Amino acid sequence: MKGMKFSFLCKKKPQPTGKRVAIVGAGPAGLTAAGYLVCKGHNVDIYDKMPEPGGLMLFVIPEFRIPVERVRLGAKELEEEFEVTYYPRTKVMEGERLDEGDEFYERVVGLDELRENYDAVLIATGIWNVRRIGIPGDDLEGILSPLELLFWIKGHELGYVPGEKVPDLKGKKVGIIGAGLTAVDTAFECSRLGADVEIFYRRTIREAPAGAYEINILRNRGVKWFELVTPKRVIGENGRVKAIELLRTRLGKPDETGRRRPIPIEGSEFQVPVDYLVFAIGMVSTPPVNGEYLATDNRGRIVVDGRHMTSVEGIFAAGDVVNGPTKVGRAIKDGLYAAVSIDEWLRGEL
Ligand SMILES: Cc1cc2nc3c(=O)[nH]c(=O)nc-3n(C[C@H](O)[C@H](O)[C@H](O)COP(=O)(O)OP(=O)(O)OC[C@H]3O[C@@H](n4cnc5c(N)ncnc54)[C@H](O)[C@@H]3O)c2cc1C
Repeated sequence: MKGMKFSFLCKKKPQPTGKRVAIVGAGPAGLTAAGYLVCKGHNVDIYDKMPEPGGLMLFVIPEFRIPVERVRLGAKELEEEFEVTYYPRTKVMEGERLDEGDEFYERVVGLDELRENYDAVLIATGIWNVRRIGIPGDDLEGILSPLELLFWIKGHELGYVPGEKVPDLKGKKVGIIGAGLTAVDTAFECSRLGADVEIFYRRTIREAPAGAYEINILRNRGVKWFELVTPKRVIGENGRVKAIELLRTRLGKPDETGRRRPIPIEGSEFQVPVDYLVFAIGMVSTPPVNGEYLATDNRGRIVVDGRHMTSVEGIFAAGDVVNGPTKVGRAIKDGLYAAVSIDEWLRGEL
């Protein structure tokens, strides 16, 4: 199998420029930027809180879409042929914040420390927080974070998570709220582990962000699909989830996303029994700062200028942490464009 080719510009390390770049986040954006920068002769170190590079491609996306081996070979080539140094299990942070996947890190490095020790820094830390729904009962036992669940399942297969961490889902009823990639991947993995899965979505399949193709694959696996419903509350017993109460919806006029807005229908409540519930209703950007260090917008995404530079001189950003949830291709493109700017800036051409 061929590895992903992050250093597609060159075959071997060119004459060194003597410039050092720190990249925070070894997902597709960070690894692509590294591949470009090493081909321009810069020295690259990559910091990541997970045990090995790859980001969501390695720890979340199912094997049939992106094989683990392709990611591993690509990351290894950067290390062996281009002297990229990885600092795994290292969370970069100014201030404090708990994010998904934090159980894997063993040390913390300040963003300011990287800024002082490198000529440039690229932040590519993605969207590692799950949006909370905020309805009664959403903190009951049996409510799982989709990312945490996917980390446990994939992390176990990669040898980083003990088997007992992965919930035994065989024959269990798992309800999933949402219809994006996170929802369908969670549904796929739960059904693979033998669960009886039901997806609840407030619009129809036509508006589902994951697309009808992915949803039909799930339906063919026996995953049930409820359209036009929205959760009202979670019902528990002895502190544990027992059922989800839903309201039916109808579609109104298009909202700011261009999709028709779901409007709950008063008095249409009904309950569906579940053993586990997963709210996969969105992910939030996770810059390695909590506080005033660099500018973010009202959705927590890092604000960059046309050069991909943040509000702090010498610190650049790319990928989902800037754009919000996108796809691997977009993150790769963004990482590449940011790297072009970093190279020009280091050469004093920008
Ligand atoms: C469940 C799910 C399924 C998806 N399926 C697909 C798919 O099938 N096809 C597709 O094209 N896209 C898919 N996507 C989207 C795709 O994975 C992302 O758009 C892409 O990975 C973003 O790349 P990135 O480099 O910006 O961030 P990420 O891939 O998220 O990488 C960010 C890296 O930063 C590290 N990190 C985060 N915070 C810190 C910190 N403070 N310090 C140090 N390291 C940190 C993380 O460990 C991670 O390695 C999916 C997304 C999800 C959530």
